[in-house]
Amino acid sequence: MCGFPDYGIGACADALAPAVRDDRVGMKALILVDMLEDFVHGALANPRVEAILDPLQRLLVYARSAGWVIVYSNDAHEPGDPELSIWGEHAMAGTPGAEVIRELEPRPNERELLCPKRAYGAFDGTGLDAQLRALGVDEVVLAGQHTHICVRHTAYGALVRGYAITVARDAVCAFEGVDEEDALGYLQDVYGARIATVAELTHERASSGLVRGRRPSAPISARRRGVLRR
Ligand code: ZN
Repeated sequence: MCGFPDYGIGACADALAPAVRDDRVGMKALILVDMLEDFVHGALANPRVEAILDPLQRLLVYARSAGWVIVYSNDAHEPGDPELSIWGEHAMAGTPGAEVIRELEPRPNERELLCPKRAYGAFDGTGLDAQLRALGVDEVVLAGQHTHICVRHTAYGALVRGYAITVARDAVCAFEGVDEEDALGYLQDVYGARIATVAELTHERASSGLVRGRRPSAPISARRRGVLRR
């Protein structure tokens, strides 16, 4: 179980963890970001979630069957958390809005972790790095929402701690009005993330009819080459 965030000295020490590690054994962790009631049906409801639910479920089933570590990185806010001044109250700790949606119901155990957070990134003061390190994880597979906010900050946290990063492109979404390709392109260009479909990640065949929506990852880099922003 991850701990609640500590924005004091401990957070500074965590941020300075070495990026080069020698304890890797090739384990993957699927990090499901903010698939919570308030982000699907409540205060910050996002209609785009509907399109990613099926891929998310398939990815979760696969991850469990493949023995990956699974992390539910869940907002669990307390009054006064800095980002509440931007978004208003959402996913307050202990409320129904902070519960994982039933379609992705957790099965907590030593390899399926509920990891509450009080800021955007899954690594921000949560102790997640130490948990993953202890389990031999060297690659994180990111899914959930939002591509341009919490998924992005989680990707940054993974990068500076030395993890390889994969983003499940049809299992993440941003807010309506945000360009998904731009959001994914940023992750690829700035954090070196591999962008792959759930079908690719679960070794399904493209011809099976299970691949829908977005195109494979290669065109993002080609289209965005030389047009980095920020
Ligand atoms: Zn939040």
